[in-house]
Amino acid sequence: MEQYDYAIVGSGPAGLAAAFELSSKRPGARMVVMDKAIVSSGGLRNDCKMNFTFPIGFPVDFWSRENAERYLERVTEFLAPSIMERKNVGSYRGRAAKIGVELLDIKQSHLGTDGGLKLIGRLVEELKSRGVEISLGEAAVDVDSAKSTLVTDKREISYKALVIAPGRGGFDFLRKLMARLGIIFADNSIDVGLRIETREAHYPIVQDYYDPKFLFPERVRTFCTNSRSAHVVKERYDTADGRTYYSVNGHAWSSDRPANGLVNFAVLRSVEFTEPLASGQDFAEMLGLQAMLAGGGKPLMQRVGDFRLGKRSKLDSFTGDLNDFEPTLKDCTPGDVSLVMPAKFLRSIWKALKRLDTIVPGVLHPSTIMYYPEIKLYANKPRFIDDHFQALPGIYLIGDGAGTSRGITGAWASGLRAADGILEND
Ligand SMILES: Cc1cc2nc3c(=O)[nH]c(=O)nc-3n(C[C@H](O)[C@H](O)[C@H](O)COP(=O)(O)OP(=O)(O)OC[C@H]3O[C@@H](n4cnc5c(N)ncnc54)[C@H](O)[C@@H]3O)c2cc1C
Repeated sequence: MEQYDYAIVGSGPAGLAAAFELSSKRPGARMVVMDKAIVSSGGLRNDCKMNFTFPIGFPVDFWSRENAERYLERVTEFLAPSIMERKNVGSYRGRAAKIGVELLDIKQSHLGTDGGLKLIGRLVEELKSRGVEISLGEAAVDVDSAKSTLVTDKREISYKALVIAPGRGGFDFLRKLMARLGIIFADNSIDVGLRIETREAHYPIVQDYYDPKFLFPERVRTFCTNSRSAHVVKERYDTADGRTYYSVNGHAWSSDRPANGLVNFAVLRSVEFTEPLASGQDFAEMLGLQAMLAGGGKPLMQRVGDFRLGKRSKLDSFTGDLNDFEPTLKDCTPGDVSLVMPAKFLRSIWKALKRLDTIVPGVLHPSTIMYYPEIKLYANKPRFIDDHFQALPGIYLIGDGAGTSRGITGAWASGLRAADGILEND
């Protein structure tokens, strides 16, 4: 059996941050960062828009403002972002406040999907030069906490400290692992909503503020806005019983790429379940599968003009003269979102969109597309035994998969916080 001081599962921002901190404070330590993917580094591959203002990306269950801001300073120092200019925020905020909506003023940087790949290249090379082993295509399978061993699909290794950062894609793996190890966790909240795609001319606020975060009543918010060279994507999720559904998401290339004049963003509603529903993930999976049933195995898309008339979109809704742009996500079925989206989500989101149309008139143009479903799984909330995300002696659970972050900077901060705990206990 190979022996390591530190084993890190997941090469996303949470795992990388832990690796950087540990390798800089303990230069001689033996460390492996493994990832089940053949190409790494998790969510840094996605658009790479980074938010440097609390509470974006920092779930308040685990982060006080003071603590998050302390870590954000370290994240900022390491990643050295170039913060984008925001213009006219005061006037948008004033308009929003009049109708009960809050616009958060967030420091942001944007690398784009291509810029993110360059960043990953630099970070991975730096870790290798510090002697950290990067093992791609190696999946963690199980942990024996009593023997401090990690079982992967390739070998068994022993560790002094184990950091598990499997991201949202590893949500189910982590849930099962926690159940096997007897780690108590809650999983009672979900975020479900639509991805909106429209012409930049119909949502011109993005020229002033790249990713405007609006908070509406009934726990609805805008999230992850992409523009200039933006497109909608679908991500595959496999359910616990082996079925597949797709959730939509958004990407943008860096400003080096030609602009396509389109913008996309999510409008999500959060719901927290109480008794007797035990699992937010199970609920989310049912919604995802139901959408696949209606969409023939694909997400649904509907033009706002059709939605307002109470009719489904059809193929010709996407070619007619009113509808002056084509959807960027082609592998999607024209249909009726109201057929599959629970009323509680749809009503709150539609009300929020009407408010948004008052603040930024035009966003509800008939050609605007609503894609469904966009589902965010960050519901795992483990019970930790210390303030550094230690769930069992020597085992730390961090990043989006463990519910300790909701974005790149929060994930990076969670990696630093776990590393601090490991160093304290060394
Ligand atoms: C399309 C898309 C766009 C996004 N855009 C943004 C954005 O612009 N800004 C932002 O802040 N956030 C964005 N996010 C969210 C962001 O990617 C995450 O918040 C962040 O990456 C979480 O970091 P993490 O380290 O916890 O997990 P991840 O980055 O997801 O990394 C987890 C890694 O663990 C690996 N893994 C999983 N299970 C195992 C296992 N059993 N064994 C070994 N390896 C395993 C996975 O392959 C993955 O590489 C986006 C996400 C998506 C999907």
